[in-house]
Amino acid sequence: MIIDTHIHLDHDKYEEDLQEVLQRARQGDVKRFVIPGADPKTLQRAIEVCEANDDVFFAVGIHPYDIESFADFDFTPFILHPKCVAIGECGLDYFRLEGDEEAKQREKDLQQEVFRAQIRLAKKYKKPLIVHIRDASRDSKAILLEESAAEVGGVLHCFNADEELLSLANEGFYFGIGGVLTFKNAKKLVNVLPKIPQDKLVIETDGPYLTPTPHRGERNEPLYTKLIAAKMAELLEKDQEQIEELTTKNALQLFDIS
Ligand SMILES: [Zn+2]
Ligand SMILES: [Zn+2]
Repeated sequence: MIIDTHIHLDHDKYEEDLQEVLQRARQGDVKRFVIPGADPKTLQRAIEVCEANDDVFFAVGIHPYDIESFADFDFTPFILHPKCVAIGECGLDYFRLEGDEEAKQREKDLQQEVFRAQIRLAKKYKKPLIVHIRDASRDSKAILLEESAAEVGGVLHCFNADEELLSLANEGFYFGIGGVLTFKNAKKLVNVLPKIPQDKLVIETDGPYLTPTPHRGERNEPLYTKLIAAKMAELLEKDQEQIEELTTKNALQLFDIS
């Protein structure tokens, strides 16, 4: 059994054939799905999907690309929903910063403020965090430590393979591994994989994005977690079954679901 710990089932790319996507995954033994919160506009759709499917859960959060929606967004009713399992995805993403140095700094400050606020919410409601980090490892780690995020832990989704983040395993953080592991140019992730404590490994697709080989260029879907598990098994010299068992156990623990 596999758990897809990060799959944007509320994305319009799945609107037409969602039940078929889920059915294919279930037949392939993918048994739980977590929809991360990114943009409040699609949250209602995420909840609809969760209410129609026992094996789908959601998180509520604001992605660093959507921070302008933070000010007028009330998390509370969503956090209290019985299928809300986490806060996020939240974090820092400095990859797309625009403008002059001053504008970039303003954007960074704002992202940091919204990230800190979500960590505090996670602590208040005792929910783990789904953390998105891109080109911002140092600042993200500093904030997680300063805000004592270890109280709730969480997952560094789409782990960027930066070794400086590995010590967050000691703060209750898991490492989300996705399709990137199967890419030809994934040397950095391939090299760091054995250094991740095995009780902190989880699998994710991040669909519809980051489709694993040999389906690159197509829409990603939760069934493809199989390809990630197979690659992980090869690299860690284990059976695929052992990897599935291990990462499932970790994911259930991370999100406190059964
Ligand atoms: Zn992300
Ligand atoms: Zn995502």
